[in-house]
Amino acid sequence: MSNFNIKINSISESKIDQVDFSDLPFGKVFTDHMFVADFFDGKWQQARILPFGNLSFHPASNMMHYGQAIFEGMKAFKNQDGEPSVFRIEEHAKRFNLSAERLCMPTIPENFFCDAIETLIKLDKNWIPTFEGSSLYIRPFMLGVDGYLGVKSSATYQFIIFLCPVGPYYPKPVHLITAENFVRAVKGGVGEAKAAGNYAASLLPMKIANEAGYDQVMWMDAHEFKYIQEVGTMNLFFVIGDKVLTPATDGAILRGITRKSFLTILKDKGISVEERPIAIDEIIEAYDNGELKEIFGAGTAAVVSHVASLTHKGKKMELPPIEDRKIGNMLKKEINDIRTGLIEDKFNWMKKI
Ligand SMILES: *Cc1c(COP(=O)(O)O)cnc(C)c1O
Repeated sequence: MSNFNIKINSISESKIDQVDFSDLPFGKVFTDHMFVADFFDGKWQQARILPFGNLSFHPASNMMHYGQAIFEGMKAFKNQDGEPSVFRIEEHAKRFNLSAERLCMPTIPENFFCDAIETLIKLDKNWIPTFEGSSLYIRPFMLGVDGYLGVKSSATYQFIIFLCPVGPYYPKPVHLITAENFVRAVKGGVGEAKAAGNYAASLLPMKIANEAGYDQVMWMDAHEFKYIQEVGTMNLFFVIGDKVLTPATDGAILRGITRKSFLTILKDKGISVEERPIAIDEIIEAYDNGELKEIFGAGTAAVVSHVASLTHKGKKMELPPIEDRKIGNMLKKEINDIRTGLIEDKFNWMKKI
């Protein structure tokens, strides 16, 4: 299944001139076109690119009531020669299909997924910002669209992709609080999938944390509230002494592609790294011994988001100044340099379009 015929209905006049590329808010600016394909009669068909705009759905659509909705998030860049390229596109295609399987939705052939993104980016390539730290954010998603109120897997779906130019994202170091009552995910649940409902479920705990003066919730395991999972839309890394630790994926943690890339870079540099269950008590002990050097989140949007403090049951642990964070800062630079072609792409992560 390689020759997907994508019908292109392009806009007559680009709206790119209306956009201030030196001031791009995240997720509020959209390119000229979007991609749409329909699934019916058991197969994907009618692949098309059309002007970006509203879509209409049956009010009884499955995704609106029962949540058959999944998404991905990845980025495109221009390299030093101005050629567009996407970071680890095949990994995102694979994860999209794992999410689809978990939500009982049809998978998408990987080459079709990649083809759709590449064709869309080619058409809107002028929208890829080139300011340092900026990129073109790619949002593929799939929705169950049957207009039927029974709780049942949809027979029809829509696969949609749109693009957002995004500016440099220099997140302020975040203040975290461990979850004590709410859980994000449980083994056997849907935590490993990028399922829309997971994010709706995190809004109330996040609001409560914000009101108490914290930026994000550090999710703990759903059985004992003892083992650390992840935070927001990021996986977590800890630097204790000269060792780097990250919670092992166990079915309840999203398998981040940034996380996976960090593990590869750390191993390649001969830095000692462990993937295993991490109890909060271990972090507290390391802090008390003066061994806790860094905590950071890892995800597509920020690459690295440094943690300023972590509060657990009233104990606030303040972390060292950002300038002293060797590992997090090194990983962020390394990934950004690979993405923009400043250093050799030795792991073959960039796909030129
Ligand atoms: C997307 C996401 C991540 C990070 O994944 P990346 O592939 O690195 O962007 C981590 N946790 C959650 C819950 C996510 O949704």
